[in-house]
Amino acid sequence: MKRRLSILLLLLMSILLSPISRIVSMEIPEDSLFIVGAERGLPSPSEDWLQHQFIQVYHSQKQKIDTSLQEPIYVDIRRPDSSTATVRGSAGGNFIFIFSPGHLSRERILGVFAHELGHQMQRNWMGRLSISPMLNEGFATWLAGKYWLRWHHLRSFDSAIRTYIKQDQYIPLETPVPNGVIQDVARRDIMYNEWAAFEEYLLQQYGMPKFKDLCHLLTPHRKEDLKQFDLCFKEIYGTSLPGMEKAWLATL
Ligand SMILES: [Zn+2]
Repeated sequence: MKRRLSILLLLLMSILLSPISRIVSMEIPEDSLFIVGAERGLPSPSEDWLQHQFIQVYHSQKQKIDTSLQEPIYVDIRRPDSSTATVRGSAGGNFIFIFSPGHLSRERILGVFAHELGHQMQRNWMGRLSISPMLNEGFATWLAGKYWLRWHHLRSFDSAIRTYIKQDQYIPLETPVPNGVIQDVARRDIMYNEWAAFEEYLLQQYGMPKFKDLCHLLTPHRKEDLKQFDLCFKEIYGTSLPGMEKAWLATL
C-alpha cells in the first residue's frame, strides 16, 4: 500500500516536473531515479537493496557515456507471459521490466537491469536507438559491463570471444538477424557478447567521438539520411564492417 502510494506520488511528480526538466535539463535526485516494484509473491531482494544497487549501475554507465537521466525509471520485476518466455528483460518509455519465472539470483537481476538501463541510456544519449539492432544490443551489453560479465561468469568480453573461436561457436558480425530478435538464448548471448567486444575495440582504438559519429549516421532523424550499414563504417572508419571485424579479431 505504502509502495503503491509512493509510486503514485512519483508518477504525479514526474508528470508535473517533466516539462520543466526538459526545458532546464534539471537532474532529478538520485534516490528518486528508480522506482522499484515486484509482482506479488515473487521472491526478490528488498526494494532498498535494489534501489541502492541500481544507482551503482547507473553511476558505472554515466562514467562511460556522458549522459544522465532526466526522468524517473519504473523498474518492475514480474513473471513472464507466453510472449516473453525467452525474454529476460525489456525497456521502453520510462519502464524497465525484469522477467522472473521464480527466484532470480542477484547477479541475474543486476545483469538484466544493467543491460536494459543501457538501452535507456543509449536512447537518452542519441535521442533514439540506432537502426541496427545488433549495434544497440552490443552497446547495451558493453554498458552493462561488469554486471553482465559477473552474471555470465565471464572474465571479459574478449575472453568470451576467444572461447567462441576455440569452440567453433563464433558467429560473423554481418549474420542477419530477422526483425532483430534471436529466440535462441545461447545464440543471443554469443551475438550480444561479440558486438559488445567489437564495440569496446572500436571505442578503445578509435575513441568515443568517432563512435558517436557512427551512431549518428545509424540513428537518422529523417528517412532521407538513412544510409547503408556498411557505408557508415566506411565513412567513419575508412573500412567496411567485415574489414573492421577482421582487424579486431586479429588483436584477440
Ligand atoms: Zn537488449
